Amino acid sequence: MTYQTVNPFNNVALESFSDSTDAEVADRLSRAHATFQAWSAQSFAQRKAVCTRAAAILRERPDEFARLLTLEMGKLYAESLGEVELSASIIDYYAENAEAFLAPEHLPTTTLEEGRPVVISSPLGVLLAVEPWNFPYYQLARVAAPNLMAGNVLMVKHASIVPQCAAAFEALFLEAGAPAGAYTNLYATKEQVTWLIDDPRIRGVALTGSEGAGAVIAARAGQNLKKSTMELGGSDAFIVLADADLDKTVEWALWGRVNNGGQCCVASKRFIVVEAIADEFLAKFQTALAGLVAGDPFDKTTTLPPMSSQAAAEGLNAQVRKAVDAGATAITLGEPVPSTGAFVQPTILTDIAQDNPAYDEEFFGPVALFFRVADEDEAVRLANDSSYGLGGSIFTANEEHGVELAMRIDTGMVFVNHPTWTRADLPFGGVKKSGYGHELAGFGIQEFLNKKLINVVPIQASA
Ligand code: NAP
Repeated sequence: MTYQTVNPFNNVALESFSDSTDAEVADRLSRAHATFQAWSAQSFAQRKAVCTRAAAILRERPDEFARLLTLEMGKLYAESLGEVELSASIIDYYAENAEAFLAPEHLPTTTLEEGRPVVISSPLGVLLAVEPWNFPYYQLARVAAPNLMAGNVLMVKHASIVPQCAAAFEALFLEAGAPAGAYTNLYATKEQVTWLIDDPRIRGVALTGSEGAGAVIAARAGQNLKKSTMELGGSDAFIVLADADLDKTVEWALWGRVNNGGQCCVASKRFIVVEAIADEFLAKFQTALAGLVAGDPFDKTTTLPPMSSQAAAEGLNAQVRKAVDAGATAITLGEPVPSTGAFVQPTILTDIAQDNPAYDEEFFGPVALFFRVADEDEAVRLANDSSYGLGGSIFTANEEHGVELAMRIDTGMVFVNHPTWTRADLPFGGVKKSGYGHELAGFGIQEFLNKKLINVVPIQASA
């Protein structure tokens, strides 16, 4: 069985769920397709009522939802509560703003003969969303809220390690009054995902996940000439200039690297520090990472939770070993982490040459890559020397100069004096192997729409 809850704090398997059968998937697709006809015909106000209620339910019962996050993927409980609130804020944001985002656009004309052209934003139909475990609700909210408000309906294949979170989100929308088929959770196999993409009733595919999964799903969508969005991995640079406020910068470095257990697509992963302050930064960063306290993610005093699974922890440890075999130095920090549970020792890798595999890999977890550079030009060159192009950050006392450097970074998002982060009203998306398309803000609702031109032309107009 693929779908299973295993508590990564102690690796105890708690519950298993049967894969959806082919007949179930077919049945639920038919229902989603039928529901689309009715859902898309509803007014914005009707769809808003459902979404607003869904956000309210999340806020009324945060513990019920947050508990599942920590149980299934080991997130610190305070962060789980934060994710529940963030998800509610995204749902509310689209409930509030969708109608304005999708207002008909009347195009300017100069003569009567050109007619009265208007562009209408019509929903496409049933969308398939394939989602990752690292933010089990937030990722769903990012794709569900804009698309449900736009009149699309969704079928979701969530990551196999968070089946209860997946089911909770479907139940949330049903409880909020969405018709069955507006939001469908599937415990789908990879084969079923493939044939869903092939089915003509699926009109678009959104994936958030790794580069490998993205390449497979995007290729299949491409074969079927279907629109897709790909929100993939990253290896964000965290650039520190000589004039940065070092103590505050190190606080952000720690948060940027280890929030969400370090398993964040826009986590700060490559710390690129100019020579003038490199030693001082490295010393303070080591002290900060060494101070993390590993333990039960439900315990308020824990600051280093387990990784999402034992497999993820082993994968990260293997990456560290490979980096060291290829010449990097591993500085391990803090008290030894518990031997039971998916814990990984906080580590800084230094001396990473360009031909070291670590140089261009994503590290998901409490392992930081450290690079010292002569000056900011070298910092920008190194930041851009990556297959990924998701986020990044620049720390400097000169904000204007920070913006100038941000213009030179080849990624979808750059923050000055803060690790890249997310909010309902900020667009989110990457370039290069970090994918294409956007989620969140006004951009996120525009991805799966038919921008339909309707033009009323005087019948006597010349050809
Ligand atoms: P993953 O292994 O790619 O899995 C993501 C989803 O894709 C899961 O539901 C997975 O299902 C499914 N999947 C994988 N291969 C598939 C295939 N061949 N056919 C159909 N479905 C397939 O990624 P992850 O480890 O869960 O998530 C971490 C990655 O997501 C990191 O690279 C992170 O940077 C990235 N991410 C990106 C963003 C962004 O917005 N750019 C946000 C968050 C995370 P199973 O679980 O059943 O394998």
